[in-house]
Amino acid sequence: MPLTKHYHPAPWRCRQDRRLRRYLQREIVPHHPYYRERFRELGITPARIHSVADLQRIPGLITQKRDIVGRDRDFVLQPELGSLLRADPAHLLAAAVRARGRSAALREFLEREYRPVVYTLTTGRSSARTAFVFTRFDLDGFVAKAARGIFSMLEIPRDSIGVSVFPVALHLAHVFSVEGARAVPSAVLPLLGLTTEQRIAAIETLKPFVLFGVTSYVERLVALAAAEGKDFSSISRVVVGGEGMTEAQRQRIVAALCAAGAKDPVVVGSYGFTEARLAMLECLEGAREGTPVGYHCDPDLAIIETVRIKENTDGAVMEAVPCVPGEEGEVLFTPLSGHGTVVLRWRTRDVAILTDEPCPACGSGAPRILPPIRRRSSDMLKNVRGTLVDFDDVARLFANEPAVRAWQITIGNDGSRDTLVAALALDDGADVAETLRGLQRAFKMCTEVTLDEILVEPYEALILELGTDAELKERRIVDER
Ligand SMILES: [Zn+2]
Repeated sequence: MPLTKHYHPAPWRCRQDRRLRRYLQREIVPHHPYYRERFRELGITPARIHSVADLQRIPGLITQKRDIVGRDRDFVLQPELGSLLRADPAHLLAAAVRARGRSAALREFLEREYRPVVYTLTTGRSSARTAFVFTRFDLDGFVAKAARGIFSMLEIPRDSIGVSVFPVALHLAHVFSVEGARAVPSAVLPLLGLTTEQRIAAIETLKPFVLFGVTSYVERLVALAAAEGKDFSSISRVVVGGEGMTEAQRQRIVAALCAAGAKDPVVVGSYGFTEARLAMLECLEGAREGTPVGYHCDPDLAIIETVRIKENTDGAVMEAVPCVPGEEGEVLFTPLSGHGTVVLRWRTRDVAILTDEPCPACGSGAPRILPPIRRRSSDMLKNVRGTLVDFDDVARLFANEPAVRAWQITIGNDGSRDTLVAALALDDGADVAETLRGLQRAFKMCTEVTLDEILVEPYEALILELGTDAELKERRIVDER
């Protein structure tokens, strides 16, 4: 279902209320170990939640990283015959009839619905990595629906193929593009385990219509292809994910693609995270016009909220006040269907504005997250010499500087103070002294701390150091303290 004009707020809000009620009553509270317990602790029954507004009155259901770390299994739906029979007898009876009373066939049905078959892993510190799993039911259900919406919005022709250069199979972006495409049905071929040169050669041969990949890696890949005179004329759409995209990056990717023969390519950003198990796409029309209007969310798949959160001193959520229109707040995510790993009111720590005003570019009345989404994940916020530095701002600073091809920052401590060293790979034609002076100034303006040293390194050496080709997430900020 494309995100078209028929999504007006009143009807989709009603549908969300209905879906939420059904999901909590039939799936979450009966089959989810963590939330079954949580509802009991809070003294509420799912029958008391009739609408999204009711959900918003329960800060105790807001879920954050510390709730799930070390107990992934408790967040996976695990029904038993008894709980299934109580929660949704009609569904189970229909399955039993289809199985003609044979217990093996019934077990097969339940495995298809509830047994994890695809895994993703969150990024970040390895001790805090969490598995988020999908079942066959999920891949055929909400993943397929979301992917069909995206393929339709991107106007991908039926007989065309796509290519994914996402680096690792455990990455949500890989699962979502490759598995999602299968359900469309379409083909997005994952180029895993290849070097950049091999990927470029494969793209020339396969002639994909659409290319999926991490922003900075796609930028490097298309620049290399253009420099080597390769033929990328088949590429009409690029979907980037895994990290943000600045307008300067978008323009550089478009320019490189045009130099490699592409005609009017459109580069579209996406917003997704492992815990959501899906991704939202930037408006194609907005991206085409070069006026970013935000990320479209399918209101039938998930509830997106923005709230102002009050915590107590040990980080527990005490209060969450929904934002008024136009107000910036923290993004919370709640799915409306699906088995496998489920989190409710997931605390993304990303800050943005949410709107259901019709999209100025395509007219859709679906909810829209406006750019820029400011990522506030704890691994990008660091205290350096007593100043809280947001390394997402630093990432944007480097991404906007055309002479910087790759960068890495190492935070250390020499025994008396924190040290900050940046390693950069620069464009061949760049004026090194001038670029470094400019960056040193801009870094100080942006973060209020000074870089101790800037090292210029060969591009290939830095890429290896960053793990661009092979890691779940590039090692951009190395904290050695
Ligand atoms: Zn739009």
